[in-house]
Amino acid sequence: MKANGYGHGAVPAARAALAGGASWLAVATAGEAAELRASGIGTRLLVMGALSLEELPVALAADADVVAWDERFVSDVAAAAGGGRVRVHVKLDTGMGRLGTRVMSEAITAAELVRAEPSLELAGAMTHFATADEDPEFVSAQLARFEPFVAELRRLQPGLVVHAANSAAVLGEPASHFDLVRCGIALYGLDPMNERAEDRGLEPALELTSYVAAVKAAASGDSAGYGRRFVADRETRLATLPIGYADGVRRAFTNNLDVLIGERRYPLVGTVSMDNITVDLGPDGSAEREAPATIIGSDGKESQSAEDLAARIATINYEIVCGISSRVPRTYHRDGVPA
Ligand SMILES: *Cc1c(COP(=O)(O)O)cnc(C)c1O
Repeated sequence: MKANGYGHGAVPAARAALAGGASWLAVATAGEAAELRASGIGTRLLVMGALSLEELPVALAADADVVAWDERFVSDVAAAAGGGRVRVHVKLDTGMGRLGTRVMSEAITAAELVRAEPSLELAGAMTHFATADEDPEFVSAQLARFEPFVAELRRLQPGLVVHAANSAAVLGEPASHFDLVRCGIALYGLDPMNERAEDRGLEPALELTSYVAAVKAAASGDSAGYGRRFVADRETRLATLPIGYADGVRRAFTNNLDVLIGERRYPLVGTVSMDNITVDLGPDGSAEREAPATIIGSDGKESQSAEDLAARIATINYEIVCGISSRVPRTYHRDGVPA
C-alpha cells in the first residue's frame, strides 16, 4: 500500500485488498502506516522501509511490524518499545544491494538480540529480489543465499514468517513464495514486467480521465501551448483538457501521447503545462464540452495503458501511477458501479 497505494489511494486500496483476501498490509514509511491505522484498519501492518529515530515511534504507535538488520537499530527499537511488544523482521541483503545486511552473521546476531530483548519479538525473516522481472537466474542465486538464513532463523524462532516475493516473483518463481508474498504492482492489475498486463491475466484497476474544457478552431500557423512546440500546418480544431504535469501527466509527454475522446484516439499536441494539455481533433473533429477524455483506460475499442505511457517516456508503469498527484480526485467503483 506504499506510495498512496501506487497512486490509487492507500485506504480504499487497502480495503479492496483485504476484501480480496489479503491477510497483512505492507507500506514503506511510518506515515503510511499511521494513515492506514487512522482509517480504522486493524490488520497486521509491516513497514518495509528504513525508519529514522523520529519515524520509529510513529511506526510503533501504529502497531506496525518493523524491519531491522543490525544491532544498533534493534537497540533503538527496544528503547522505543515502551510498554508494548514490538514485532521485528530481520532482513538479509541477498543481492538487492539496498536495505538489509549482506553479512549473514550480522543478520543472525541482530535476530539473536531481538530474541534477547523482552520488549521485542522475532516475527519474520525477509529478503528482496533485484531481478525478479528480468533475470530468473539471479533470483535463484538470491534464494540460495536466503535459504540457510531462513533455516537458522526458523531454528531460533519456530513459526516466524518468511517472506521474499514481490509481484514479479509471485508470478514467476514459486520457490520464492514462503509464508507471505509482498505483492505490490500486480494487485493494481499492472504488469510487474512493464509489458502487457492482459498477457498475465491482470486487469488494471485504474483509469485516468480528464474532460474537454474548450474546443477552438486553429488556422494553419496557429500554435498551442508554451514555446509554440505545436504549430498547425493546416486548419484544425484543438481541444483543451484541464490536466497537466501537476496532476501527473509528465511534461515529457509533450507532443508524445494519445488521448481517447468519443471512442477515438487523438494526439496530444504542444507542451504539457502545469494545468492543461491540448489535443488535435483534426479539421473535421468535434467533441462535446465536458466529454470525457481518457489518458489511461479504454474508450470503445481504443485503449491506452499505464505501460503504454511508460514506454513513451522510457520509464515504468510504477512511476506513471505513483506520479498521479494528490489534486486528482479519486472515485472508486466496484463492478463498474460507484462504491
Ligand atoms: C515495493 C516492494 C515490494 C512490492 O513490489 P512490486 O514489484 O510492486 O510487487 C515488495 N517488497 C519490498 C521490500 C518493496 O519495497
